[in-house]
Amino acid sequence: ANPLIRHLRAASLDREGALFATRPGADPVGYGELFAGAERMAAALVSRGVAPGDRVAAQVDKSLAAIQLYLGTVMAGAIFLPLNPAYTEAELAYFIGDATPRVFVCNPVRRESLRAVAGEATVLTLDGEGRGSLADLAAGHAGFEPIERKPSDLAAILYTSGTTGRSKGAMLSHENLYSNSLTLRDYWQFTAEDVLIHALPIFHTHGLFVATNVALLAGAQVVLLPTFDAEAILAAMPNATALMGVPTFYTRLLADARLTPDLAANMRLFISGSAPLLVETHEQWEARTGHRILERYGMTETNMSTSNPYDGARIAGTVGPPLPGIEARVTLDNAEIPLGEIGVLEVRGPNVFQGYWQMPEKTAEELRPDGWFITGDLAKIDSNGYVTIVGREKDLVISGGFNVYPKEVETLIDDLPGVLESAVIGVPHPDFGEAVVAVVVPTEEGTDAASIQAALSEHLAKFKQPKHIALMDELPRNTMGKVQKKALRETFAQLFT
Ligand code: ATP
Ligand code: MG
Repeated sequence: ANPLIRHLRAASLDREGALFATRPGADPVGYGELFAGAERMAAALVSRGVAPGDRVAAQVDKSLAAIQLYLGTVMAGAIFLPLNPAYTEAELAYFIGDATPRVFVCNPVRRESLRAVAGEATVLTLDGEGRGSLADLAAGHAGFEPIERKPSDLAAILYTSGTTGRSKGAMLSHENLYSNSLTLRDYWQFTAEDVLIHALPIFHTHGLFVATNVALLAGAQVVLLPTFDAEAILAAMPNATALMGVPTFYTRLLADARLTPDLAANMRLFISGSAPLLVETHEQWEARTGHRILERYGMTETNMSTSNPYDGARIAGTVGPPLPGIEARVTLDNAEIPLGEIGVLEVRGPNVFQGYWQMPEKTAEELRPDGWFITGDLAKIDSNGYVTIVGREKDLVISGGFNVYPKEVETLIDDLPGVLESAVIGVPHPDFGEAVVAVVVPTEEGTDAASIQAALSEHLAKFKQPKHIALMDELPRNTMGKVQKKALRETFAQLFT
């Protein structure tokens, strides 16, 4: 059998009427049609020479057809490799050169300009409406028996977001994907009664595996929105039961006066992840809707590793305990440290990836022989097992030989009047090695560097206090709402040199 497809299909086999996608305004599509379309995609790919283990790269807009392409690729025994539609030709050249796909699927309008970067790959096209040469090819096929695969065979290579450096291809097996999605479905209590608002991109683990796989495994209905659109989400909410989002979804929705307990009355679950959710957002959301957001933590390399509970305390500022079947520990210099102390978070379980594509040294550095994966995130674990992410190891500032955890400084700044949010970074400094710099986004009432400086001096040791405070209209973020500290460090690199 084909393990991932078998699991994804199981929930809908006896529910031919179940709806997968109801893009507002479009005709609803049943699960039967969803998988029949995926079979046609699989047959089309095989007709173009795709064999088990081949990569199928897709830089396509979010659509039902794009999800069928994902499923069809896995049915064909191949490895799905989704790429952000925003990537430029130069960026694509890296990914395609690295992954050497058999087939590259892109938007018809880019076909000519991307021919050069496609290399040896066969180029097929698919647009946001599901039209293009791949769709035409698929239309000529019907029925496909999914290719046999082992649980340890690869189903996808997903490139990491590139927040800390060049994106790495995380190799994910069938078992990695179905085990995590089954765990999440049960932990978050997804059933066929659910209607999930799906507004996340599907080139990232959050939208592709957390949202799509969990919905499929539950046989749930999905409202598939092409992008984040506050209007569309608010319109969908009265008839929906769940939303998965990045923190910026929640802050943007909070800015809309139509968000009320009444509007969210049918909803049972709001989930956040991919970047830290501010405690303030958590509190405001509860005040406005009556719901406590459930925050979870994961990575491209691991799918989801921890989650606040469905029943039980959802604690703001934490990402909850490890999911069932997954272990977490915190280490310093390769040795486990006591509860409550900050160190590097490691995780182990069936969710942990098979290594970085064509990067054996990097894989060996981060994946221990006994299965523990070194996440690179700094964290602490409390006596109830709840994990708090303190930031990334690469963002730790070492000033005059002392460790400064940006989160500690950011939390203090964010609590000051007139501050919307902040990012604390380290930049080169001739005396201290690195100096702490705070980038602050003021609210409408406003603030200034001197008053922030004065307030911090009461709370922080001198070495933790910013040597420079810059005000900015907004923080640089990527599509997943992640603050791009690398870009900020570049902006302020020359400040003291
Ligand atoms: P790269 O590895 O290429 O630098 P990236 O780590 O941002 O990029 P992803 O795999 O998309 O790529 O993101 C995983 C990271 O996102 C985690 O390591 C963690 O730092 C962050 N993250 C995810 N969920 C949360 C959360 N709930 N709270 C805080 N951080 C989170
Ligand atoms: Mg990472």
